[in-house]
Amino acid sequence: MVTTRFAPSPTGWLHVGNLRTALFNYMIAKKAGGQFILRLDDTDPERSKEEYVDGIKRDLEWLGLHWDRVERQSARLDRYAAAADALRAAGRFYECFETPVELDLKRKKQLNMGRPPVYDRAALALSEAEKDKLRAERGGYWRFRLDHERIEWTDGILGPISIDAASVSDPVLIRADGQVLYTLASVVDDIEMGVTYVVRGSDHVTNTATQIQIMQALGGGVPDFAHHSLLTGPQGEALSKRLGTLALKDLRARGVEPMALLSLMARLGSSQPVELRASLAELIEGFDPGQFGAAPTKFDVEDLFPLTRAHVQALPFAEVADRIADLGVPADQAERFWRVARQNITVLGDLADWWALCRDGAPPDIAPEDADFIAAAMALLPPPPYDETTWADWTAAVKQATGRKGKALFMPLRKAVTGQAHGPDMGDLMPLMQRVQARG
Ligand code: GLU
Repeated sequence: MVTTRFAPSPTGWLHVGNLRTALFNYMIAKKAGGQFILRLDDTDPERSKEEYVDGIKRDLEWLGLHWDRVERQSARLDRYAAAADALRAAGRFYECFETPVELDLKRKKQLNMGRPPVYDRAALALSEAEKDKLRAERGGYWRFRLDHERIEWTDGILGPISIDAASVSDPVLIRADGQVLYTLASVVDDIEMGVTYVVRGSDHVTNTATQIQIMQALGGGVPDFAHHSLLTGPQGEALSKRLGTLALKDLRARGVEPMALLSLMARLGSSQPVELRASLAELIEGFDPGQFGAAPTKFDVEDLFPLTRAHVQALPFAEVADRIADLGVPADQAERFWRVARQNITVLGDLADWWALCRDGAPPDIAPEDADFIAAAMALLPPPPYDETTWADWTAAVKQATGRKGKALFMPLRKAVTGQAHGPDMGDLMPLMQRVQARG
């Protein structure tokens, strides 16, 4: 069975970059009728927070990316310890003692000599007595010994990849304080949870090379891999620092609709056009990781708003009825209100402003040269309630009384009634207007 996983660390809020990873994995699993695992990479007890676990789940639920299983790495520490023992027994695990400062010094020396800054495996030469002494002083941490050969795979997005293991440092898998690091935990989980396809960002390509060797050393199956490009800002600028401002919860608060976000992220960076889709099922149908390019993908948060507008404006009344009732719109006016307001909103939150206008009227916008005209017109406007014929009857009377016609007639009246130059058809809007402030 095709099994994918989305493996965020609950150390922050999900952002658009994470969503891309989640969505690709979700779509691959669902397209194949397989399963999608939510795996919480929470082996770092200091930085992992329950608040973020809840936030991750809430965001995925909001988007409709339902997981078939949830797993937490913090509940599987015994499995990682067993894997560490197996690697030790296989002679692929060795204890190291260099401090970060010492490692940094080594790296600088290597760079000065024009050599790649790869760990020199000095710890492999330590005698048992030396190790005992160092262990007593500072504690040891554990590295996986890579086989120095080329590691190759056919990436679902990047195509054939070949990495020389000798150009990569032996990865640290367990810290001196015993904390299991991501690489080991992830490999053990991918094997034991039967993950068959891993999609993640291209910042993980080197990790993948080392993970393939660790998987093989543990006798596990190696899944397929695809590495999607990283997002940049609209001008190609790095987004990594700004991703925090592109949290899914903040986009939700700004009124971005799930289908707008999903429609954009499921196609952005691929050879297919971005079009608003009505359901995840539609997006899944046309999804193919092979159609995505390796180049960084430009993301502009503003692109979410035209898609949101298109989604919102197409909603049937039944789907917004509760929201409209919550605004206090009387039941007998609710359908008309939706019909009138929908063409003038981008997010559903904009409905509140339109309802406030209908209920309270608006401070009029009257140009000085129109002051007399508006005074004359307001004298001809009867008090509310208004109906479908109010606007036509009123403007006809104003036309007759003042001689104005066309735009010179209609625009100042619109601005006097609504306080703005744009908005719904006035004939449709008038029956909803419970007050016209310009009437006094
Ligand atoms: N927790 C890792 C991360 O967020 C998961 C990477 C992976 O998909 O293996 O970067």
